[in-house]
Amino acid sequence: MTETTEKIKCLIIGSGPAGYTAAIYAARADLKPVVYTGLEMGGQLTTTTEVDNFPGYPEGVEGPKMMEDLKAQAERFGTEVRFGTVTKVELSKEEGGIHRAEIDGNKWVEAEVVIVATGASAKYLGLESEQRLRGGGVSACATCDGFFYRDQDVVVVGGGDTAAEEATYLAKICNKVTLLVRRGEMRASKAMQKRVMNTPNLEVMFHTEIDEVLGDKTVEGVRVVNNQTGEKKVIDVTGVFIAIGHKPNTELFEGQLDMDESKYLITKGKSTKTNLPGVFACGDVQDKEYRQAVTAAGSGCMAALDAERYLAGLE
Ligand code: NAP
Repeated sequence: MTETTEKIKCLIIGSGPAGYTAAIYAARADLKPVVYTGLEMGGQLTTTTEVDNFPGYPEGVEGPKMMEDLKAQAERFGTEVRFGTVTKVELSKEEGGIHRAEIDGNKWVEAEVVIVATGASAKYLGLESEQRLRGGGVSACATCDGFFYRDQDVVVVGGGDTAAEEATYLAKICNKVTLLVRRGEMRASKAMQKRVMNTPNLEVMFHTEIDEVLGDKTVEGVRVVNNQTGEKKVIDVTGVFIAIGHKPNTELFEGQLDMDESKYLITKGKSTKTNLPGVFACGDVQDKEYRQAVTAAGSGCMAALDAERYLAGLE
């Protein structure tokens, strides 16, 4: 085992709106928070272009810029933001116990409180061809990458609200959008389905799945299969947008923190308390319902307040 090198008061895992907001509050409460950013510093919003619905930005703001602002605000009050990934945790079950976290597989920190803000990540289909062409025409974010497919043909995979939203968004930019839905109906709300059906350059193919994404370095098409008839056909497209939902980043806490059937962390009542004393969860890692930057930020604030109260209660 690697040597423990550092004792801290408050460890925050994750650097999205939840993590940074928790840091702002924890720093101001003198908890001397240390944020480990994870590989995707700034979280999911760094893969977004314009954010128009975060209060306080009447003209909108670029996702990466907003995350830099949040980071700067956290640092202003003394938060230490470190680029690094928590690779293992050993969380204490005792009230007042010390929680241990391994960083990048080579050092340990010991913390009195831990705030988990590891967020969620887009799901992919899991095809070899899809993974190989990620960044070469395969994307999980239409608002980030749609711009590159102006006047071109693309497919969107999924039948939920996200897929419907992404498909109608892309239809405004692209020549033609084909939405591939694996069942005979969409899961999206009726209103969103209506929008899809009323968009002239958007075609929906039901009972259809991607068999292979075609292309060497960049996407040249998709081979799709009708899962009722087995019939295959090739659609010529330059972009493939995967919109089949998200999964919470909770592998690290498996067997230690309580999770629901979709692996989201469970928090108690209206609080951010997990099943372990001194461990709090905020943002998308514990929220599959709202998943907004502003709700994540709000729950980050709650986690810092819960952590502060927990520490005060120990004294
Ligand atoms: P979701 O509701 O879980 O839908 C995922 C969709 O992807 C489903 O249609 C599912 O098919 C399909 N899918 C899953 N795995 C697949 C696979 N391997 N191959 C092909 N298709 C696959 O996810 P979401 O659309 O991201 O929405 C998540 C939550 O956010 C929902 O509660 C949604 O209402 C909400 N949301 C709301 C808005 C809005 O109100 N503006 C916008 C976006 C999201 P099946 O139906 O067959 O399972």
